[in-house]
This record gives sequence, structure tokens and C-alpha cells, in this order.
Amino acid sequence: MYVAAIVVAGGRGARVGGAVPKQLLKIGGESILRRSVRACDAHPQVSELVVVVPEDLLATGAALVGDTRVPCRVVAGGARRQDSVRAGFEAVSAQADVVLVHDAARPFVPREVVDRVIAAAASAGAAVPAIPVADTVKRAAVSGDARVVLKTVPRDELWLAQTPQGFRRDVLARAVADGQSAAEATDEARLVELAGGTVAIVDGDRRNVKITTSDDVTEARQRMTSMRAGTGYDLHQLVSGRPLVLAGVEVPSPRGPLGHSDGDVVCHALTDAVLGASGAGDIGQMFPNTDPQWKNAPGLDLLARALSAVHARGWVVVNADVTVILETPKLAPHLTRIREALAAVLGVGVDAVTVKGKTNEGVDAVGRGEAIASHAVVLLGAGA
Ligand code: MG
Repeated sequence: MYVAAIVVAGGRGARVGGAVPKQLLKIGGESILRRSVRACDAHPQVSELVVVVPEDLLATGAALVGDTRVPCRVVAGGARRQDSVRAGFEAVSAQADVVLVHDAARPFVPREVVDRVIAAAASAGAAVPAIPVADTVKRAAVSGDARVVLKTVPRDELWLAQTPQGFRRDVLARAVADGQSAAEATDEARLVELAGGTVAIVDGDRRNVKITTSDDVTEARQRMTSMRAGTGYDLHQLVSGRPLVLAGVEVPSPRGPLGHSDGDVVCHALTDAVLGASGAGDIGQMFPNTDPQWKNAPGLDLLARALSAVHARGWVVVNADVTVILETPKLAPHLTRIREALAAVLGVGVDAVTVKGKTNEGVDAVGRGEAIASHAVVLLGAGA
């Protein structure tokens, strides 16, 4: 399945106030736009991006978006939201099966939400992530500054819609066409509803906040200052005839790690680092080597499972820095693929993952080529 993501930053965010467009305000040293794009770019099922920016930002759009893992086009938006989405949709390649539409004002969308939207959009045609309304809801009569409750609205049918919203290509094509003559729609699912189509609801996430007001910006910045660091270390003995796998990438080598699992030292060190930083234990506790279900388990799978536990605690990876110590072969030709594989699992841009190869200068067991070792440091930030 080919998935394209449109990130809509068409408006200027008048509610935030100030001269800088809302999507260009920085949180934790990075613009809201760049973070929202990165959340889509990092999803392993997304194959292309289209970023819709206000006309006057088109010239600098590519620089504002920065480097991406997948191909990315930047196009100018229109007056209404549906005009911006139409401009984005026209830039999506014809092979897309599912098209996501994401607000540039939602930089914290967790990967699991994107997973659910893609799956539901593919089967139902259209899907929105939403969270149930928790507060009691009042309908009010407003007259000047005076507000009076008219009635209490039953909340069991009420859901708060988030993004990304997902659509099969044909469903979005119809919604975009209908949108030309429709009144202003605040989301694309509304256009599908108007046309009588079915829109599935999948679980959203309370961390997936929309940054709308200046208070939201302040709060997001405060959340970003909450950080945790973790370190990890792993070593495996090298023996003849075993594959050498680092972050799931097979590196041609006559010798590979001996181990209970695949001996992927990069993933094992990173798993310990993310678990350590989040306070969720360590690799031995989560995946005991006495349990046969982890025998030969790929390191990337263990890392992904550990990250689910980390995300459940409200943390996301900010960056990771890994050193691999190995006498031979040289790792340099493989480091880009290793970084890309890690970035996809960690849910960050490739620029936030560094992997360095070193030798041990012939000293000790690693230096004699009898073992491979890895050190990892990660920084976690509060996911919302
Ligand atoms: Mg290990």
C-alpha cells in the first residue's frame, strides 16, 4: 500500500497573534511545522509528502521544511482549508492508495495514531482519529458578555476529531471536488460526510494536541523542556558463519554475533538506553533470555516493543547517538541504511540518529576481532 501525507500549514494562525506565522514558531529549537512534517516523514508506511504553505512562504518553504526521508513537494495553499487541501492533493502522485491529511499545528502525533488511521482508511475509505469528550458539555445562549446555559448536551455521542485524517485516494478526490462548491469545511472528513460517505473513527491520543493559541505554544514549550537521558551497552562474541546484523541491516561479514537472539548490538544497546531513560526497566527484564519467545527475536522488534512501553509512559525519542566498536569489516558503507532503519523505528528524522563505527586498535577481545560492542545514548522528551 502506497501512502502519501499532505501536511497543511495553509493559514497564518491569527489566533496565536504576533508577526511570525504560528507554524514557524519554535518548540524545543524546532518549528511546529518541521515537527509536524517530521512526524509524518518518520512513519515507515509513508512514501511521499506534500507540504502546503501560505503563498508568501512558498519561496522559503523547502528550507522551512528541511531534509526529509521521503520525497517532499512544497505547494502554495488557498483561501479556505479545502482550497489548501486541493492544492496539496493535486501534487500527490497518482500511485497513492491512501492519502493522509495532517494539521501542521499537531506536532506531537504519536506513531500509533497514524498506524490506526492508515489501516482504517484503507478498509473503510475514510477515517479520523478522535477522543471521547470527557467534560460535561453545555449549549449556551450568548448575548454580549452574558452567557446562559440553555441545556446540557449528552456527551456519549460526542468525539473530538484530530488529524491525520486518512482517505482512500478516490474518496478524497470526490471530497476535494465537492469542496469547491461547499461552504468552508474545518476538516476533510466533513466533506465526505456531506457526500453521504462513511467515516470511521479510530482512537486518537490526548498527546496529539493542536497548537492554536499562544497559551498552547507556551505549554508545548514547557512540555519540551521535560527531558530524560539514558545509556545502553551491549557486546556479543563473534563466531564464523553467523550473519552480522546491525539495526536489521545485514552487513557482509564472515563472522557474526553468537547470541540468544540475532545479536543486533545496536538495537540491544538502544533498547536499554530508551528503557533506562524512561524508567521502564531494562532489556533483560522485558525480554528474559529464559523465555523461548525471544529466542532469535530480531533486535529491531525488541526495540519497537520497548519503544511502545516508553511511549505509553508519555515519552518520545528526541535523538539517539550510537557507537559500534568492531575491528572488521568497515561499517562506513552501511551507516546510512542503519541510520534510516533506526530513524523509522525511533520515530525521528535521520538527522536525529547518529551511528559511528570505531575499531579498538587491536586491543583486547574486541580489538582481536573476537567480539562486537555498542554504546548508545538517547534523549527522550515528553510526548505532550
Ligand atoms: Mg545483546
